[in-house]
Amino acid sequence: MDEGPDELDALDDHAFRLKVRGWIEANYPPHLRNPPKRLHWPQSRPWYLTLARQGWLCPGWPREHGGMGLSAGKQLVWIEELQRHGCARFNDMGINMLGPLLIRYGTEAQKDFFLPKIRSGEHIWCQGYSEPNAGSDLAGLRTEAVADGEDWVVNGQKIWTTLAMDANWIFLLVRTNKAAKKQEGISFLLVPMDTPGITVRPIINLDRHDEFCEVFFDDVRVPLGNLVGHVDQGWTMAKTLLGFERISIGSPRQSSYALGRLRLLAEHAGAWDDPVFQRRYAQLRLDLADHKALYETFADAVRRGETLGQDVSMLKLHQTELFQRITDAMLDVAGTAAGMLEPLEGNNDLNPSGQFIQARPATIYGGSNEIQRNVLAKNVLGL
Ligand SMILES: Cc1cc2nc3c(=O)[nH]c(=O)nc-3n(C[C@H](O)[C@H](O)[C@H](O)COP(=O)(O)OP(=O)(O)OC[C@H]3O[C@@H](n4cnc5c(N)ncnc54)[C@H](O)[C@@H]3O)c2cc1C
Repeated sequence: MDEGPDELDALDDHAFRLKVRGWIEANYPPHLRNPPKRLHWPQSRPWYLTLARQGWLCPGWPREHGGMGLSAGKQLVWIEELQRHGCARFNDMGINMLGPLLIRYGTEAQKDFFLPKIRSGEHIWCQGYSEPNAGSDLAGLRTEAVADGEDWVVNGQKIWTTLAMDANWIFLLVRTNKAAKKQEGISFLLVPMDTPGITVRPIINLDRHDEFCEVFFDDVRVPLGNLVGHVDQGWTMAKTLLGFERISIGSPRQSSYALGRLRLLAEHAGAWDDPVFQRRYAQLRLDLADHKALYETFADAVRRGETLGQDVSMLKLHQTELFQRITDAMLDVAGTAAGMLEPLEGNNDLNPSGQFIQARPATIYGGSNEIQRNVLAKNVLGL
């Protein structure tokens, strides 16, 4: 595709869809379609680099920072075409979380150094927020950073760090002031994973996959300049980043993908024409259409550079629970095959239990749905 961002954005949605569809079909590695589990970096790297070369990695970033600056509607088309073709999700925390955060809060030097390296795939990021006793109560985190000469010295532990074994950088929330109120003593730090004193230990999940890790920090020295924003004032940034994460989890990608597979599964199982199934499918499809409309309003706000409100929790809640309802239907349609941990007949398109298992943690990561309901009740509805 030779068109630049301006020309692409000028196309109508249908013409844009045909363009990206043709390009994805011509460029996506066929053996990576519909992978049953999340890929590790060595597998997803070629696709990441292909997107990077095309300038397609960051459709939502502003153009002055190397993004596509696409409208929310076109970003949706892009997501739909990726899921339609069964493209895998890659290591996207730099793109979806850290990049937008640096664009808002980073110094010019931090933007100039880090953003191009995210876009080129040279830096692969992971998220060091949760700790063994600080998940929902994130502000209770205890990993600390103490200033010593030209460095911060970091000690502590993070957990559930997705794909930390693949990352060469981690963004960390650290405690820099133990005397302050807990939200007021937190800072945001950028750390290379090859710094001496960092140990990464993978955790095997229910799906028998090493998708997340524990990460230990023993006297890890990080230059003072790797702090984003101001010392002790990282909490606002921490929450902004969670907003970006909730937009990303709240995108219709997972539900849209799962609904397509539900249809294939129903056709395969002979349930497609069953009126009871049809009613359930129609309801899910309408819920997905509602969700896309909701997503567009938030994605448009991000593109306009607006600060997201706490109501973005609604997006995360609705998407993850819809994803779970679709995969519940998959298990019902699959009958006895629902108990198999592998795709049916070796066909990755038909993987009811794999999708079901992937949908379970969606209501936990990015802040559990109970916490999202608390946020909506307290901060949006004022209850
Ligand atoms: C697949 C997966 C990937 C993840 N990836 C990352 C990552 O890359 N980086 C990272 O930092 N973290 C990651 N996490 C961690 C995730 O953010 C936390 O698991 C989540 O915030 C919940 O924290 P917790 O596990 O400590 O549970 P807890 O906070 O111990 O909560 C346990 C239960 O109690 C409920 N609960 C707690 N407090 C309240 C309350 N006040 N009101 C009502 N209910 C409450 C919760 O909803 C939950 O059901 C990941 C988690 C998963 C499952």
